[in-house]
Amino acid sequence: MSQLVADLVDIAGSDAVLTGEDVSSRAVGIWRPQGIQAHAIVRPRTTEEVSAILKLCHDRSQTVIAHGGRTGLVEGADTVQSDLILSLERMNQIESVDDVNRTMTLQAGVLLQAAQEEAERHGLLYPLDIGARGSCTIGGNIATNAGGNRVIRYGMTRDMVLGTEAVLADGTIVSSMNEMIKNNAGYDIKQLFIGTEGCLGIVTRAVVRLRELPRSQETALVAADSFEKMPLILKHMDAYLGGTLSAFEVMWNDFYRLVTTPPAKQRPPLEQSYPIYVLIEAMGGDQENDKVRLEDALAEALDKGLAKDATVAQNGDQRRQFWAMRDDVEQIFQYDPMFIYDVSLQVPYMERYVGEVRDNLKRRFGHHQLFTFGHMGDGNLHFAISAGKDESAHHDVNLCVYEPLRPIGGSVSAEHGVGLEKKPYLDVSRNDTEVKLMRTLKSALDPKGILNPGKVFAA
Ligand code: ZN
Repeated sequence: MSQLVADLVDIAGSDAVLTGEDVSSRAVGIWRPQGIQAHAIVRPRTTEEVSAILKLCHDRSQTVIAHGGRTGLVEGADTVQSDLILSLERMNQIESVDDVNRTMTLQAGVLLQAAQEEAERHGLLYPLDIGARGSCTIGGNIATNAGGNRVIRYGMTRDMVLGTEAVLADGTIVSSMNEMIKNNAGYDIKQLFIGTEGCLGIVTRAVVRLRELPRSQETALVAADSFEKMPLILKHMDAYLGGTLSAFEVMWNDFYRLVTTPPAKQRPPLEQSYPIYVLIEAMGGDQENDKVRLEDALAEALDKGLAKDATVAQNGDQRRQFWAMRDDVEQIFQYDPMFIYDVSLQVPYMERYVGEVRDNLKRRFGHHQLFTFGHMGDGNLHFAISAGKDESAHHDVNLCVYEPLRPIGGSVSAEHGVGLEKKPYLDVSRNDTEVKLMRTLKSALDPKGILNPGKVFAA
């Protein structure tokens, strides 16, 4: 047993520390079956234990990578053999729900789905929702500022977190468990830990904001004859629905066909011949009239020629089927290797940008597979691209996707973060002064560079 492992056992107990095969038999991530490399995994139960572990690591300049549900897509929690993994998996307690203040206090290792279900038991909603809900954790959501399907209505994780408790690299506990929506008493400390990918501190607990549980949830699938119509449909529906629009998920024909054709489980609710589709959801407070309002809005969209066809889910089962179709992103792994993208840009540039990416791929690779979908209401597109069997195509595909973002001020990461994967392309979206300020913050909070080293930007 190494001295590090012995000291970790002293702090957290022998059942908290994993070594050898218990480490290497764990998958790197849900999409990545290869085994984890690390000196050890330590699984503390309290913030105090996290603090003692980080103090120990700081004293020895031992690198530490925090692990949540390992559902990330940008190599943001990757490790090497000399790293220590600090997994929050045993800090999985929901401490309290306040029905009146509409807040939940919980530990970082709570699964997103468990938090959603607990809120629902109180007649409340924790609005963050992403496909990985059953595996991802609140701490991971915070570290990556996760987005997902309802950002258009409720914002990203950043908009739902009221307070955090985090441990700095040297073991200092920063408890900032604010429970108020408004608090301008100085710097907003929690923002240091939201979306900074575990590089500035490790979040151990949080206070999140809950909303009233909607009484109605109406879902529709709409087809249009060109992308041009999509921003118009968005404006039309948003205006008509008076603030209840909660999702606007666009699927290009290539993606729609993929997720409605075997081996995918779902069948197409609308013909597969339209160039573009959108899954629309409204969450409101009037069960009787909200559906009528959605149907009226769609009828008008059809009348005006904005939409070509539309269907409204008639019950919960149908609604779940519509979402299962949109969420069936796994189908892209029929192709291997498949590269996944998450870019952000202004809606008016979208059509031209997608065309440019397609042209770039055609020019560079000839034959390729491109699937396009995303949260159009938030200006966020996802691509899944396969350009032959060769893994080495990745960098060239990246250039095809990222370079056209430069002149239009787009972002190489809308909601997935940077990790290792997008680090070489950060300069597409961030200028030197911005990166320099990131470095200043990093060296102030983690002077020895032990927390998630090498991620986001070059040291
Ligand atoms: Zn997404």
